Amino acid sequence: MRLLIMGAPGAGKGTQAALIKEYFAIPHISTGDMFREAISKQTQIGKEAKKYIDKGDLVPDSVTIELVRERLLNEDCKNGFLLDGFPRTIAQAQALDGMLNRLEIKLDAVLNVDIDDEILIDRIVGRRTCSVCKESYHMTNKKPKVMGVCDVCGGKLIQRVDDTEETIKNRLHVYHQLTEPVLEYYFKQGLVKNVSGHGNIEEIFAKVTILLGGNE
Ligand code: AMP
Repeated sequence: MRLLIMGAPGAGKGTQAALIKEYFAIPHISTGDMFREAISKQTQIGKEAKKYIDKGDLVPDSVTIELVRERLLNEDCKNGFLLDGFPRTIAQAQALDGMLNRLEIKLDAVLNVDIDDEILIDRIVGRRTCSVCKESYHMTNKKPKVMGVCDVCGGKLIQRVDDTEETIKNRLHVYHQLTEPVLEYYFKQGLVKNVSGHGNIEEIFAKVTILLGGNE
């Protein structure tokens, strides 16, 4: 199964991606996670990416495309993958087409998690992530049992630096300007499957598995 997951920041892509990864046993490739890891390791790419991420802007295409190109050559992508947060521009989508052509593979579907802008800001501001295992939480919708502590591994919960109200407004603007056209690009290829991002996580995932041809 070769999939892309798309949706505005806060639509719940990351949460659904984690479930899809388990269900289909495919690697979850999140460019946002890759950049955050590079930042925490203070690599050259991390230092470059941080300048953009902190403002809610996109990291330049050249940097992002190279990162994904290398990742897709990994052995674990042989039987499928789930790309999350890439492509975010038409140039990235065209570059991905080129990579897939060279590998002689095709995408099976582009899952779009659809949600109204009004509720996104609240969702993002309440979002917390485990600093160790990356499990996601929400201060009203998915509270941890103990404040600030991950239920799964006991790690410390943190708020992403780009999850502030000011940065989110820019990220939403960037999404509508640059990433929505990518959805249109895949729509024309007949690959897009829409799922509503409203409702609880399990209900949404049940719809996702049906859309992707699973057994639930
Ligand atoms: P995410 O975790 O997907 O919301 O990504 C966090 C941030 O990483 C974004 O706001 C961008 O600054 C950067 N980023 C992630 N993926 C990409 C991409 N495909 N192209 C450019 N920048 C990206």
